[in-house]
Amino acid sequence: MSKAKTLTPMMQMFVDEYIIDFNGQEAAIRAGYSPKRAAQQAYRLAQDTRITDAIDEAIANRRKRMHITQDQVLIKWWEIANADYNELSSVRRVACGYCYGDTISLDDDDNDNDDSRDIDPTRDPNPDCQMCRGEGSPHVHIADTTKLSPAAKLLYQGAKETKFGIEIQTADRMKALENVARHLGMFKDTVNHVSEDGSMKPVFNIVGVSPDDHSASGDSTE
Ligand SMILES: [Zn+2]
Repeated sequence: MSKAKTLTPMMQMFVDEYIIDFNGQEAAIRAGYSPKRAAQQAYRLAQDTRITDAIDEAIANRRKRMHITQDQVLIKWWEIANADYNELSSVRRVACGYCYGDTISLDDDDNDNDDSRDIDPTRDPNPDCQMCRGEGSPHVHIADTTKLSPAAKLLYQGAKETKFGIEIQTADRMKALENVARHLGMFKDTVNHVSEDGSMKPVFNIVGVSPDDHSASGDSTE
């Protein structure tokens, strides 16, 4: 039994148009409803569960055609949420200018200010160094981004030269984690198919996180 069968041809046209741009008013006009009353028509159609079911079904069918499953998208988000920024750039402690003795100039009075210039990023700090006592000097290391792990590749979104140096652009891990949490139903989202302007753009309101909801999924072993 298919609920879509109970739609009139005009309703079906509305559903087909609606999933193009998710604009209810425009979809109603394109489906042949009177432009003057399109907003009210869109509102009325959105109250009809036959319509909303048909929209859900059309979206699911499109996903199937594209061979994309929700699980695949979820896995990508999860990979971004767990990727390590250190793979892109990191602060490392490296040999200071005095660690191995060969860069000290006894004639130079201002050696104290020179250690950043003389650090050796290819060597570890010398534990016996009398200047840094094995702490070394901080050095910002930028990765060869063509050799990143698959997870870090998802995180990496490009780089540009600025007057302050190289700026690495990355995906937002917290946003990715939020997407995963929402996907798993850890937020209580309310979805309204009709926004105040009658455009039927989905409106998402995060009401809050309910810890009780995901304890049922087996995370809690207590
Ligand atoms: Zn040192």
